[in-house]
Amino acid sequence: MRGGEREPVITIDGPAGAGKSTAARLLAERLGYRLLDTGAMYRALALGVLRAGLPPDDSPELRRHLDDVEVALGDDRVYLNGRDVTGEIRSPEVGEATSRLTMLAPVRDKVTPLQRALAAGGGVVLEGRDTGTVVCPGAELKFFLDASLEARTRRRHEELAGRGAVLPIETVREEIVRRDAQDRGRALAPLRPASDAITIDTSGLTAAQVVEVMLRAVERLCCTRS
Ligand code: C5P
Repeated sequence: MRGGEREPVITIDGPAGAGKSTAARLLAERLGYRLLDTGAMYRALALGVLRAGLPPDDSPELRRHLDDVEVALGDDRVYLNGRDVTGEIRSPEVGEATSRLTMLAPVRDKVTPLQRALAAGGGVVLEGRDTGTVVCPGAELKFFLDASLEARTRRRHEELAGRGAVLPIETVREEIVRRDAQDRGRALAPLRPASDAITIDTSGLTAAQVVEVMLRAVERLCCTRS
């Protein structure tokens, strides 16, 4: 990188189970970049809404709650009002509430500027649904990871089992289909590839192979920039 020029912003978007989290973590490690898990911020916010006993609908109570709540990302950790909630945000209940809340304008209006500010210095990998389209449309490099429904279901099933949640595969498939429909169909910041994103079908690839494809794109970018 030339002196004074900031490091690139890299975005990785895609549906649940496409392998974004692992690829984003490995890519950030390989480049020495900061990882911004944008879904974790929404999940922390959803946990706060659940704890406040509020339904995940737009209401004056929800808006007041959002005004007062603070969500922050640290190294691999997410904080709600200064408390580490990293372990608590991965439950199916929080996942479902997150998917509903992220359809709402006041929720996105609160979180998107925080994510932009965190990415502003460059040298970051953002992972989510709208990081290349809405959060950082000017990012230097954008990826969209996708995979067949079967591959995504299998991955998610294994991931959940790794955390001790053994669910019937059919239940996992249904959850993915429902979440996808909500994420792709919503009016605000729907899940879709940015027009300048590099799409990678991860169905038959290991995480290491996906990262190799990404690193080649980073190398091409850095050559064309110098
Ligand atoms: O990636 P993760 O499964 O943790 O995201 C949880 C939910 O947060 C997603 O289903 C999606 O509805 C929402 N999300 C979003 N925009 C992002 C990241 C996540 O709407 N940038």
